[in-house]
Amino acid sequence: GSNAEKFEFQAEVSRLMDIIINSLYSNKDIFLRELISNASDALDKIRFLSLTNKEILGEGDNTKLEILIKLDKEKKILSIRDRGIGMTKEDLIKNLGTIAKSGTSAFVEKMQTGGDLNLIGQFGVGFYSVYLVADYVEVISKHNDDKQYVWESKADGSFAISEDSWNEPLGRGTEIRLHLRDEAKEYLEEDKLKELVKKYSEFINFPIYLWASKEVDVEVPSDEEESSDEEETSESSSEDETEEEGAEKKPKTKTVKETTYDWEVLNDMKAIWLRNPKEVTDEEYSKFYHSLAKDFSDEKPLAWSHFTAEGDVEFKALLFVPPKAPHDLYESYYNTNKSNLKLYVRRVFISDEFNELLPKYLSFLRGLVDSDTLPLNVSREMLQQHSSLKTIKKKLIRKALDMIRRIADEDPDEFSNKDKTETEKASENDEQKGQYAKFWNEFGKSIKLGIIEDAHNRNRLAKLLRFESTKSDGKLASLDQYIARMKPGQKDIFYITGTSKEQLEKSPFLERLTKKDYEVIFFTDPVDEYLMQYLMDYEDKKFQNVSKEGLKLGKDSKLKELKESFKELTDWWKNALSSENVDSVKISNRLDNTPCVVVTSKYGWSANMEKIMQSQTL
Ligand code: ADP
Ligand code: MG
Repeated sequence: GSNAEKFEFQAEVSRLMDIIINSLYSNKDIFLRELISNASDALDKIRFLSLTNKEILGEGDNTKLEILIKLDKEKKILSIRDRGIGMTKEDLIKNLGTIAKSGTSAFVEKMQTGGDLNLIGQFGVGFYSVYLVADYVEVISKHNDDKQYVWESKADGSFAISEDSWNEPLGRGTEIRLHLRDEAKEYLEEDKLKELVKKYSEFINFPIYLWASKEVDVEVPSDEEESSDEEETSESSSEDETEEEGAEKKPKTKTVKETTYDWEVLNDMKAIWLRNPKEVTDEEYSKFYHSLAKDFSDEKPLAWSHFTAEGDVEFKALLFVPPKAPHDLYESYYNTNKSNLKLYVRRVFISDEFNELLPKYLSFLRGLVDSDTLPLNVSREMLQQHSSLKTIKKKLIRKALDMIRRIADEDPDEFSNKDKTETEKASENDEQKGQYAKFWNEFGKSIKLGIIEDAHNRNRLAKLLRFESTKSDGKLASLDQYIARMKPGQKDIFYITGTSKEQLEKSPFLERLTKKDYEVIFFTDPVDEYLMQYLMDYEDKKFQNVSKEGLKLGKDSKLKELKESFKELTDWWKNALSSENVDSVKISNRLDNTPCVVVTSKYGWSANMEKIMQSQTL
């Protein structure tokens, strides 16, 4: 239009679009599910607002919460329309071009190192996948609070926005028009679109319609003379037969095929979580997970839990452990409060930003909760304070930890992945073996953070802890296994902290312990130092850092004698080092070959902790 205003894409968005438009990526199908997912989000938003204000939906067709797909074969246009919340002019400018999301640069980076374009939706930039198939895109949008606008771009670094005076008024919602590239003509085939919706968008909760053609039989006037005879002569079907005028016969008709168009619904909108778990196949759970998590990798979720809670607070829930940690899981752990659970109240989507449902350390889980107890027509703020949320949260945590324990119980092949090559890891993934080792590599840190943060479930979480030790033989071991291997008379669980297993294996602190056949746990993750400040005991056994004061290796009758005879030396030494440097100098039985070591006081920082703190203050 003539009133078009021009805008430059934000630099990172522009780079992303360049990458997409020049991509040789073969699976271009993904754009459709990204657009349908955006349409569904927009419909969720308007439906949520309508709970407290019915008028917001308007009337007539505007009240139909649906997604409509249309093809124009001649002009090579594919359009996807929704009656969702729509976008104001300002929304169009911000959401589609000028504000880069946190995922934008992360995704650009991934793409430059050979990442998978398939995962675009997880980075929050799915819209731009339209440029896999289109070289020109128009977004027509009408929000209740603004006029109808058109956003358009040829992915050449800029976009334009105009007030829309030429298209049909949308009423409310958004229509995305893709001017398809020649190579993308297949998306003008109805069958292709039907197949894609089945494959990727089956679980969308709003009806998806296609303006689809249908061959129908119609009666049309015939120019042929209707033969009164049963037998047809060759003459009667001849074309140059003269018309019989003025004959008193019924109008002559014949049946021909004609193409008509109508809206055909493509998905069955089944809410999988309302079904009986016994009747849902693994395949369906897997597929549902992929669409829920926008994780379209080939990997299945590691586990799921589908249950109904009864009693004062009734709800249904479906929880998944993803096969991989999201790119920003621990990056954003401390500064955002992101939960990945969707909250529904009686099938109506309420929010996916409800942090009251799960504690932070379980934010890697995906899934949903559908409550019958929560009220529908109150604001999000009021819901957040609803008393039943506490009960829901408690049950969810319990179920989540059970689900994780089941992975360990059912697939206890606990070979550590740490020292394996990438290809070894990949082939293991293929075989779906050692699921718990896989879980531990992806989410072990979350379990440790849980032990730190959730005093109430500390023991349950400690059961899920895995580590390597002087006796684990390259495998991952659990505390239960450690306890089963404890020597008679051993009271404490021994561990040592450091930066790597290799480094720790050479530590003089281990000499005597290994010689006496005690098992010592290696903790090599920086978070382990914090972990051990919270994990004091397990099954009535205390934890003892072998580099700290207080190590007891059973009774040693000679020790007292030795202490006395060397008193002169230890006193002299203490004096020589001065009390600024050491608290005390002691004779001990913790060493074998090494003559002496520096030991940390019981409540002081270990040497490893000192190192961690130094690196953090840099
Ligand atoms: P995401 O969906 O993860 O937020 P996208 O790149 O797919 O990322 O979409 C960017 C934003 O554009 C959305 O967050 C939304 O605000 C807006 N948007 C996209 N499509 C629509 C639509 N059909 N209706 C309303 N808003 C939309
Ligand atoms: Mg999206």
